[in-house]
Amino acid sequence: MGSVAIPMWIVATVPPEAHGGGLHLASMVTSFVAISLLVATFVLPSRVRLLTLYLGVERLLRSHRTLALATLALVGAHVGLVLMRSDGPGLALVDLRNAPPRAWAATTATIALVVMVCLAIARRKRRPRYEGWRLAHVLLSNIVLLGVALHVFWVSDLGGHGAGQIWLAVLADVMIAISLHRWVWRPLRAHRNSYIVDEVREESPTVVTVVLHADGHPGVSFRPGQFAWLKLGGSPFVFEEHPFTIASAATEPWRKESKIKALGDFSEILAGLRPGRTVHLDGPHGSFTTDGLTNSSGFVFLAGGVGVTPMLSTLRTLADRDDDRPALLVVAGRTADDLLHRATTSSAATARWWPRRPGSWRSGE
Ligand SMILES: Cc1cc2nc3c(=O)[nH]c(=O)nc-3n(C[C@H](O)[C@H](O)[C@H](O)COP(=O)(O)OP(=O)(O)OC[C@H]3O[C@@H](n4cnc5c(N)ncnc54)[C@H](O)[C@@H]3O)c2cc1C
Repeated sequence: MGSVAIPMWIVATVPPEAHGGGLHLASMVTSFVAISLLVATFVLPSRVRLLTLYLGVERLLRSHRTLALATLALVGAHVGLVLMRSDGPGLALVDLRNAPPRAWAATTATIALVVMVCLAIARRKRRPRYEGWRLAHVLLSNIVLLGVALHVFWVSDLGGHGAGQIWLAVLADVMIAISLHRWVWRPLRAHRNSYIVDEVREESPTVVTVVLHADGHPGVSFRPGQFAWLKLGGSPFVFEEHPFTIASAATEPWRKESKIKALGDFSEILAGLRPGRTVHLDGPHGSFTTDGLTNSSGFVFLAGGVGVTPMLSTLRTLADRDDDRPALLVVAGRTADDLLHRATTSSAATARWWPRRPGSWRSGE
């Protein structure tokens, strides 16, 4: 809301003699709101723990996509308004050979934004390799931000008014702080809190359990149901990282266990990890937890396959905390091997399982 309301208020305070009419004012509104939404779009997936804890990753990513589309629509409107303005260079801006640097910066940022949105939409259907797609997404987003920053710097009317200048400075500070937090502070924190591989246990032909222990620290505490990004390699600054739920009890933060299903190259590498190897975790993140649900008299969990992992952590934690509220876990799996919970659920849960073919169901406590 603030990303829209504040820029609109700022533009409303621009005195009439300082703008060239309705189209100019409208182009300023669209640019200010677009820049503010762009910053909000950037902040959402930047792993600010308060955001991931209270909003949850799914909701954050949905909002990220919606804001990106809204930003693109506003950029389109802004470009249209600038070209239509009779008091400005108008269509001459389209000829980049003679265009000023601000037009080059804006064009580069706009093209990068369009490509980024198209790649994000296409990813759902074409399913490119995730790491390549992510690298392209990060590089393009940096081009967009740099292009926008240069455009704002070279366009005098955007920051030419007191409140506008302050707002742009606030947005720039937010961007710098979030970038440092995401790409410097979080890896350094992961470096201080590294983990050692204790064991890699085969649970089924497609799933392994990876057990880690904290290396010289008491372990980063987490809530049952949360997850962390796992990084291999000697440094926490490596680009490749994958999210996995912590399946062990939150009462033992020094010991972290994840159940990993072989899907692609990274999960296959994990299956071959040797004990003693140092790894790094960025987390915990996520809002899928029973912590704080003090008014609930019991829990019903529905899971499919490896999606049972947050429930495993929750059930183990409830048991360790002597929480005697009833918990029912319903798990769907294509094969008996998919029912990972069987060997691991604690006495806190009542487990029942039904193989796919009717007539031969079993249940157990
Ligand atoms: C919050 C969360 C918790 C998860 N918890 C578990 C778990 O406990 N156990 C488990 O087996 N799997 C879990 N996953 C899925 C797991 O992250 C992917 O299976 C794994 O990253 C696949 O990587 P790959 O290289 O083996 O396969 P790839 O073939 O590279 O990827 C297969 C698919 O996994 C997704 N994916 C790959 N890399 C990432 C990434 N860095 N970030 C987000 N998605 C990615 C993409 O949709 C991709 O199409 C979780 C995913 C999320 C988002």
